[in-house]
Amino acid sequence: MALKNLVVAANRLPIRQTYDAHGNLVWTTSPGGLASALTPVMEKAEQVTWVGWPGQNVSGKLKPFRAQEIDLIPIEMSAIEHENHYEGMSNGTLWPLYHDKVVSAVFHRHWYDGYSKINQRFAAEIAEVIDEDSTVWVNDYQLQLVPALLRSRAPKASIGFFLHTPFPPAELFCQLPWRVELLEGLLGCDLVGMQTPASARNFIDTLETLGLGASDGEVFHHKGGTTQIKAFPIGIDVAKYANAAKSAATEKRSQEIRSLLGNPKFVLLGVDRLDYTKGIEIRLRAFRELLADSEIDPAQVSMVQVAVPSRNNVKAYERIKSEVEQSVGNINGTFSTVGRSAVEYLNQDQDFEELMGLYRAADAMLVTPFKDGMNLVAMEYAATRFDNSGSLILSEFAGAAHICDGAQLVNPYSIDEIKAAILHAIRMDPIEQKTRMEILRNSVEAHDVNIWADSFIETLQSKP
Ligand code: UDP
Repeated sequence: MALKNLVVAANRLPIRQTYDAHGNLVWTTSPGGLASALTPVMEKAEQVTWVGWPGQNVSGKLKPFRAQEIDLIPIEMSAIEHENHYEGMSNGTLWPLYHDKVVSAVFHRHWYDGYSKINQRFAAEIAEVIDEDSTVWVNDYQLQLVPALLRSRAPKASIGFFLHTPFPPAELFCQLPWRVELLEGLLGCDLVGMQTPASARNFIDTLETLGLGASDGEVFHHKGGTTQIKAFPIGIDVAKYANAAKSAATEKRSQEIRSLLGNPKFVLLGVDRLDYTKGIEIRLRAFRELLADSEIDPAQVSMVQVAVPSRNNVKAYERIKSEVEQSVGNINGTFSTVGRSAVEYLNQDQDFEELMGLYRAADAMLVTPFKDGMNLVAMEYAATRFDNSGSLILSEFAGAAHICDGAQLVNPYSIDEIKAAILHAIRMDPIEQKTRMEILRNSVEAHDVNIWADSFIETLQSKP
């Protein structure tokens, strides 16, 4: 695969500004999931440019600069622009709409105007650095107007877009007052990638419902040309997790964690951003009922719930935080004993080493989102089970459910199904447990992230 000039556009730059030991502002790489996922293709490109927002601490206009062999083009956003584009239109309108309206989507014209303005700013900066040989990879729901804006300026460039969230059914998407604008924005692409075949189908259905053209399999014909629409389920760097899991440091930390928990017989783990799509409150309710009904003994079974702070300025996130924290307080008030909590709740971001320790310490992982584009945590847990120990309880509405054979699939809205799956995980026959985990690990390996990035770029480059 020959890649001359690759331009990546994403809401955030893959770096952030922090203070060094002397109090000077310095740039450090932020090891976000997207930067790691794109590394294999970035390494193959002759030149890589990344266009994105540098973060909140940065004031004034930053000039383009180079770091980690990538040309970085910062997109300036004032506080009010960030509020309208990111907190408003992206996370108050599109995020809930794309996750099947787990909470209501809010529609505001000034949010959309801010979104449109920032998308135009991205397109203008990208247009400066591309020519007809460039490959442009635009990422995610914050930038859906960008492809068509670019197409008008570089008709022959290869333009791809990947949506990391689900794409909703037509009847939901069509509620959006700016539905045609967003769809026409994406039709500026040669290739639109989705996480699952269901999202790809929803997208094609929506285009057809609104009369924007006609599909022929995965190729969509419209007045501006053709756009291929295809599922590319993202994966993880399996070797990175498997190797870290086998390290002596991880083994030591996982034993420490179990011992700090009071050496319970069984450890249940949840690791999520504190987001209303993740189903944390229903999961806690299931655990509480099992304790209340004496189906499980708090002296024998511990639950650890990591809930990473997220989008604190968006109203619905304040609500879910207080709901989850009330529930944890209630469970612990009722079932903990001195020195031993029924639920260990960590409202903090865990670093890689600590996550590895937690994954290895857990006998079962609970991943029960109401809706999720993919869910990497489920796959990361599986990749750390090199000895085929452990088990995964997974929502049927996570993209990962299409990949994670061997997991116990549950309806995340059903407290009874989650309870039954927890009990089954605790009581599972060892042969079934090992067989399920082996199947799960194999299916996660088959979707390694290296395959994902390569296949997206190869498909994009093989356009007729
Ligand atoms: N993660 C992390 N620290 C934490 C919790 C999660 O670094 O304390 C990472 C996790 O390893 C995973 C990502 O955050 O790579 C979460 O991705 P996922 O697809 O599960 O959910 P998202 O947050 O993108 O909705």
